[in-house]
Amino acid sequence: MKSHVKAVVIGGGVVGCSVLYHLARAGWTDVMLIERSELTSGSSWHAAGGFHTLNGDPNVAKLQAYTVQLYKELEELSGQSCSLHLTGGVMMADTPERMDFLRLAHAKGRYLGMDTELITPSEAKAMFPLMDETNFVGAMWDPVEGHLDPSGTTHAYAKAARKLGAEIVLRNRVVELTQEVDGTWNVVTEQGTVKAEHVVNCGGLWAREVGRMVGVELPLLAMEHMYLLTEPMPEVEEFNARTGREMVGVLDFKGEIYTRQERNGVLLGTYEKACKPWSPVNTPWDFGHELLQPDIDRIAPSLEIGFKHFPGIEKAGIKQVINGPFTFAPDGNPLVGPVQGLTNFWCACAVMAGFSQGGGVGLALSNWMVSGDPGFDVWGMDVARWGEWASLRYTNAKVRENYSRRFSIRFPNEELPAARPAQTTPLYDTMVAQNAVMGDSWGLETPLWFAPEGVEPKDRVSFHRSNDFEHVGNEVRATRERVGVTEIANFAKYEVNGTGSEDFLNRLMTNRMPKIGRIVLTPMLNEFGKLIGDFTIAHAGEERFMIWGSSAAQKYHMRWFEKHLPKDGSVRIHRFDQTLVGLSIAGPKAQALLQKLVDEDVSTKAFKFMDFREMAVGGAPCIVNRITYTGDLGYEIWMQPAYQRLVYHAIKDAGEEFGIVDFGMRALLSMRLEKNFPTWFRELRPIYGPFEGAMDRFIRLEKNDFIGREAAAKEKGEGCKLRRVSLIVDAADADVMGDEPIWAKVSQDYGTVEKPHGYGAPRFDAAGKEARGSTAATGASAVRGIIHGEWRVVGWVTSGGYAHYVEKSMAQGYVPAALAENESEGLFEIEILGHRRPARINVAPPFDPAGEKMRG
Ligand SMILES: Cc1cc2nc3c(=O)[nH]c(=O)nc-3n(C[C@H](O)[C@H](O)[C@H](O)COP(=O)(O)OP(=O)(O)OC[C@H]3O[C@@H](n4cnc5c(N)ncnc54)[C@H](O)[C@@H]3O)c2cc1C
Repeated sequence: MKSHVKAVVIGGGVVGCSVLYHLARAGWTDVMLIERSELTSGSSWHAAGGFHTLNGDPNVAKLQAYTVQLYKELEELSGQSCSLHLTGGVMMADTPERMDFLRLAHAKGRYLGMDTELITPSEAKAMFPLMDETNFVGAMWDPVEGHLDPSGTTHAYAKAARKLGAEIVLRNRVVELTQEVDGTWNVVTEQGTVKAEHVVNCGGLWAREVGRMVGVELPLLAMEHMYLLTEPMPEVEEFNARTGREMVGVLDFKGEIYTRQERNGVLLGTYEKACKPWSPVNTPWDFGHELLQPDIDRIAPSLEIGFKHFPGIEKAGIKQVINGPFTFAPDGNPLVGPVQGLTNFWCACAVMAGFSQGGGVGLALSNWMVSGDPGFDVWGMDVARWGEWASLRYTNAKVRENYSRRFSIRFPNEELPAARPAQTTPLYDTMVAQNAVMGDSWGLETPLWFAPEGVEPKDRVSFHRSNDFEHVGNEVRATRERVGVTEIANFAKYEVNGTGSEDFLNRLMTNRMPKIGRIVLTPMLNEFGKLIGDFTIAHAGEERFMIWGSSAAQKYHMRWFEKHLPKDGSVRIHRFDQTLVGLSIAGPKAQALLQKLVDEDVSTKAFKFMDFREMAVGGAPCIVNRITYTGDLGYEIWMQPAYQRLVYHAIKDAGEEFGIVDFGMRALLSMRLEKNFPTWFRELRPIYGPFEGAMDRFIRLEKNDFIGREAAAKEKGEGCKLRRVSLIVDAADADVMGDEPIWAKVSQDYGTVEKPHGYGAPRFDAAGKEARGSTAATGASAVRGIIHGEWRVVGWVTSGGYAHYVEKSMAQGYVPAALAENESEGLFEIEILGHRRPARINVAPPFDPAGEKMRG
């Protein structure tokens, strides 16, 4: 065993071996994997070995597609068979709602390079004759599905890594991790200490324990999972003989069941409702190659549905029931990336579908470690997406919820109840008492809408407009015509101070820093000139700035800020989290209302649009920004939590004479739509450039050399291919939800309309060749203007909904830049739930296009 290496990977499951292989392939051959026992000594050895590309997050779906594509090359490189069976698979819908869900997934596939097809239950039965097709209303076919040998695949990664020079040390547990002042890690093992620049936690079932070695509680939990194997079945043998093919994989949403052919019989697994965590607090180190006791009673309700839907299976004898544990994060997606607050400590764990995702995880992480950037939009699996509130008990509740509804529909307006409330503001009880329907915003309870007296404060979940429609509309109209108040504690807030603060922010941000007492809006870019943040920044005082951003990106942004802090200590950054909370007032009467609450002049002359001021509001020390996301005359008021009730009640009392209303997050988002304002993580993401994102007026290429400036200048110089637009949609009773394809009636071919996924970091195709700046590495075939008559898919929706004040259904999304200013009727259609609805670009915002109201 070497004593010094560039990186140590802890854990020899499929994920650790993939990370090791990808690091070696990217040129880091001085790497070592340390495994406590033999390879595949955690969850990898008893997996069912299924793989597929479908994922709720299109970016994770792309990395899954890469994983599947990799296997053939991996076999060639390693000489080790993965026993690949690329059978294809069908997803069965038993209700019209589930069929809507499949239509949405299929529509997404149009610009993701996926080749799915909607088919009838009978067509599905022809590929899997053990089903009773009368239980279903429709299905979706996906050719990129199948199964493999989990152990062979893990060894294929390991062999390929060894061939490239990586070292694998077996039967040696990592027992401690310490860090020197210079950042070097001491990886203390049973066989001695290895010094390493980087450590990667691929501990699988023990990833929590490895995290604890460095003081981090990772939000993941192992669950028991069962699948059964039948005796050989004559029906299977007959099908194979007749068609010369293997039966396909089947996913049955209703029974939360997956099934497929295994040898001459069938494998059937289920995500049961009565699910059971395994080792909820500590994973025993002596757990090895053993299985857990099967518990058929627990899965009996799912089996009952399964046998009804697949009567052919019921007749078969059960040969074996496998019960084994594997880990999940609270949302079921992996935890990947550098852990904020630590240096060179990386995670690739909670990978619940290691054989669908392991390759993509290895590729993204190796890019990140070697080039400083994952090279893809990996937010959906970034370890930074969880805050401190994702504690052991929170994780336990959420993982159980997620497991038990693994294949359930999540409606766009559906809030899941487990582990709530986690964080609350001092106004929580007041809001609930006022009939607020609460939502979870990065672990914080936030009012979504308010039910009037006599109306039940509860969402009716649906893909269509729902029971909140009328009430959200009333909140919007009252705010736009009089004045409204809403909680905005769910923003991220930071303070930067020190002698170097202005230079620091000028280096990170694309916009010029404002004068003292003023505010700017500014995007932030990575080295590749892609959008990684969008902030409101106020110059609060000499060497002091206040920053507001997206709540969910707090750890993601802190990680970036900390990475770029000057080493000389001239800049300090503080994240407030919920130690600073806020309220926003907006509408034509907002100024008169604020004036009643303060002892200084807040007329437009004295307190202009985009001014920042510290003042007492209702007697409480507050920060007041003259800006709101409603795009109306209004203010954001920030205070310590101890003052929030005082300020809220002062606002409500003083606002009575103006007919003040409470409005929730849904009304706020509706109002931003009619102003064409983008949102972070929907319109603005690291796959888009600042000019593509239509953020031109916030990009000051001339001001100084900020991160990403060169790439942004290039984007501007060459002209961008895509452009963010706002569209008005002739919708029926369902508005866009995000991710719908945009069709256009065009004669010109706009080339690749595949949604960008990867970007500038060097990345590699499956054969290990560098594929800089292309989409080839994702393995998805480029969709070249799919032609349906003259209609082609030219773009995709990022978000949208109903803009209540202007009474229009609206969408934002990306289309080829050449079409972005074209407001012609009849040019565009947006596919909503399988129906193409006419849509028209709307360049100027439909509400207050000149921005006169917010300037007041
Ligand atoms: C019954 C069942 C069915 C499944 N079916 C599928 C399926 O069909 N498709 C699919 O994609 N996935 C499936 N999975 C999930 C799949 O098994 C996991 O996604 C995958 O195994 C995760 O791999 P890993 O490398 O992250 O973790 P693990 O396999 O748990 O590997 C972690 C490794 O780290 C080692 N380790 C931990 N701590 C230390 C330490 N301190 N020092 C040294 N070594 C350490 C362990 O010994 C272990 O070998 C299934 C799982 C189960 C249980």
